[in-house]
Amino acid sequence: MTTYETEAALVLDALQKACRLTQSVRSALVTEDTFSKKDKSPVTVADYGAQAVISHMLAQTFPGDPLIAEEDAHDLKQPDQHELLAKVCEHVRHIDPSMGQDAIVAAIDRGNDAGGRGRFWTMDPIDGTKGFIRGDQYAVALALIVDGEVVLGALGCPNLPQGRVGDTDGVGVIYVARKGQGCEAFSLNGDALGPIHVSDVTETSQMSLCESVESGHTAHGRSGRIASTLGIQADPVRLDSQCKYAVVARGEAGTYMRLSGSSGYVEKIWDHAAGLCVVVEAGGRVSDSRGVALDFTRGATLTENVGVVASNGHVHDAVIDAIAQVAQVD
Ligand code: AMP
Ligand code: MG
Repeated sequence: MTTYETEAALVLDALQKACRLTQSVRSALVTEDTFSKKDKSPVTVADYGAQAVISHMLAQTFPGDPLIAEEDAHDLKQPDQHELLAKVCEHVRHIDPSMGQDAIVAAIDRGNDAGGRGRFWTMDPIDGTKGFIRGDQYAVALALIVDGEVVLGALGCPNLPQGRVGDTDGVGVIYVARKGQGCEAFSLNGDALGPIHVSDVTETSQMSLCESVESGHTAHGRSGRIASTLGIQADPVRLDSQCKYAVVARGEAGTYMRLSGSSGYVEKIWDHAAGLCVVVEAGGRVSDSRGVALDFTRGATLTENVGVVASNGHVHDAVIDAIAQVAQVD
């Protein structure tokens, strides 16, 4: 069996660097007096910068591997964006001084593969942009997909405590999962913190439920009714980004529900591939909200799926049943 050891070492290194970049962008560009929540530029610099760093590292070690990522450099190459490009370059060079402007633009543009077939990488350089802007949770997400199967998934979570949500010490954690190898936690410096496992809770009334902060990304009202059906007492744990998958994978929440709204939004693969591998390798299960496996062979989007449910495995069928029941009531 392929163990993807070279890939895992590279990914751990790449996520440490990308997390350093996103953190430095935040502290350089987001000061109390200059930052307004409507100002999108810090997140844009961090998005492009993290994508450049990771894409360049992947290209050096695996030049033949396609990448499908959230950003491309089209806008960044426009003449009126030279200030933004200069900021991206400045932050990338703190991490990798060897990268010139052309290399940075080329690395960002490498992320435009169509995906779907054979072996390819998918990346969301800043998943949870709203969380990044608020100073809450966000994740740098990277996954390797081979013939439709996620064989490696990694999440860099700079604001997520290593222990539990709400802890004030040990903040910042990276999870790296490989098919058949489990899921390992690391500090943002790359120190190994050991494997993580889902909870062994079997009674849905005893678990907590994790979901998006943004009501536009999941149906909060409906999830509240599903939680009642499941007898869940605890308030939902609301987090931005694929940190939700991490919280299920380490046993803190029994399930992560993402209920598609009426908007017809189709989920993107880079928002789920890494998280799926992290949960599955920690012993859990992931499907869509009908119990159907996520289909990563359709390109950038999960066109065959409706919503997403991740769980510790034990409660999975009960969650899917409750979703079906509540949908019927609606
Ligand atoms: P989260 O932080 O889990 O709420 O989700 C963040 C991700 O939601 C972003 O990366 C977007 O790709 C994705 N997203 C954007 N619009 C929608 C939508 N209408 N429904 C579901 N997800 C969305
Ligand atoms: Mg995202």
